[in-house]
Amino acid sequence: MNAAVPSSSEPHVMQTYGRLPVALSHGQGCWVWDTNGRRYLDGLAGIAVNTLGHAHPRLVPALQDQVAKLIHTSNYYLVPLQEKLAAKLVEISGLANVFFCNSGLEANEAALKIARKFGHDRGNTSPEIMVFEGAFHGRSIATLSATANPKIQAGFGPLVPGFVRAPLNDLAAVEAAVKAHPNLTAIFLETIQGEGGINPARVEFLQGLRRICDTHDLLLMLDEVQCGIGRTGKWFAHQWAGIVPDVMPLAKGLGSGVPIGAVVCGPRAATVMGPGNHGTTFGGNPLAMRAGVETLTIMTEDGLLANAEKIGAQIKAGLEAGLSGVDGFVEVRGQGLMLGVALDRPCGALLTQAVEAGLMISVTADRVVRLLPALIMTSDEAAQLVGILVPLIKRFLAQPKS
Ligand SMILES: *Cc1c(COP(=O)(O)O)cnc(C)c1O
Repeated sequence: MNAAVPSSSEPHVMQTYGRLPVALSHGQGCWVWDTNGRRYLDGLAGIAVNTLGHAHPRLVPALQDQVAKLIHTSNYYLVPLQEKLAAKLVEISGLANVFFCNSGLEANEAALKIARKFGHDRGNTSPEIMVFEGAFHGRSIATLSATANPKIQAGFGPLVPGFVRAPLNDLAAVEAAVKAHPNLTAIFLETIQGEGGINPARVEFLQGLRRICDTHDLLLMLDEVQCGIGRTGKWFAHQWAGIVPDVMPLAKGLGSGVPIGAVVCGPRAATVMGPGNHGTTFGGNPLAMRAGVETLTIMTEDGLLANAEKIGAQIKAGLEAGLSGVDGFVEVRGQGLMLGVALDRPCGALLTQAVEAGLMISVTADRVVRLLPALIMTSDEAAQLVGILVPLIKRFLAQPKS
């Protein structure tokens, strides 16, 4: 049971979040200010959303221009900005076409529908989809069924059937499950698990999945909602493995803060959906499309992939140097600006302590401090982040385990 106590500061908002008592008023780059004028270094970027940080000097006027022209029209008519953003996504991914929606779970929902119809088109009327331990794919009924976290599923059954779960990074287990489930049509995973604790799928594992999918006519579907859009130092995290997926849901960082989702499909998945099979009222609206186009353009012009790689390596090295040998520190995981500091104990208390120290972070999977800063972060800001976080974690670990 949820014993949600109505927050006195927002009695009319449904209490679905455990919020920190900080009200933010504005931001600039990697910094945000609260309503009392206090400044925070933003190590979270709205959970990997604000790719260009806050109030970016080229994104702001572009969005102002777009708001003054068209915000929304509907998908009854051509939306030229959809084609413009789709062409960019196709170019940087090497895939074939794109469906636009508004969020991560919607992108995953579309991917799941594509996987099922891919089966039906082959005469398989009970298609199954392989998902993984530790996975997070969203909170709709279908995507929470694909998610592995029992806390997220509790109270919302019956779950959607048709999912087969396997352990991450265990190719032999995947091969056995593929043999045991002849109705499988797709393998679906995050290239780097985010909410699950920053757990990367290994390069050889991804390459093995690509081979298995080719051999058994399965779709390889990579959820890059969190790890995509340059965060790891390549446009998409799977590009480090030199493979290409058949279906790739995107969302968080694509619009630099404007809600957007996209499913990018390769040739085997691109024509599974036809007119009438899927749709959304808001999906692909001109404001979101403009945000996507400007985000990708600015990322390219300003070399933000290289920056993510460089600044991420600096933060990782700084954290490792500061924490190695400290009792209770396990490891730093992840790549580029998607990093997790794994500890040996639950560390939710660090959220409040970080805010008190002027830093925004997240804690996920109970024991992992997660960093997802904007891709514009400078070397000086990265040094400040490490300079705040290392002593904070050390002090936390020095306390007796509760
Ligand atoms: C955040 C996230 C989602 C869900 O996105 P929403 O926009 O919150 O619906 C799905 N998959 C992954 C990997 C995510 O990180």
